[in-house]
Amino acid sequence: MSAARRSGNDMITYTVMGEEIGVYLDAVARVVETGDDDALASIARIEVPGMLGAVRDALAGHAPDERGRCPLCRGRRLPWWRGQTVPCRFYRAIRDRLIPPETGRRHTLPDGVGTPVRPAGGTG
Ligand SMILES: [Zn+2]
Repeated sequence: MSAARRSGNDMITYTVMGEEIGVYLDAVARVVETGDDDALASIARIEVPGMLGAVRDALAGHAPDERGRCPLCRGRRLPWWRGQTVPCRFYRAIRDRLIPPETGRRHTLPDGVGTPVRPAGGTG
């Protein structure tokens, strides 16, 4: 298979997967916004663990390499010797979305609820 054809198939797969993810996220958001207590409890028990795993897996891929650079973000626009140091833009974006910098923690969680987000691969 040629590189161009492979690239085209990859874009189709990307588009289909993106649509599937969008439909899934919209469905979860709809339940969160309009669902009753039973529906919310179901989302929390069934869907949230998978979402947490997805975020953790995504962050793990952006853990620093032996040079202190993100292995996924380095080299995208910069030469390898000037690669993205950690925390990279992706890592910062996830952190800022989950724990807005102005609050230092997710403001919607009641006091004492939740666990701190630890860097992927960290020891503590
Ligand atoms: Zn990265």
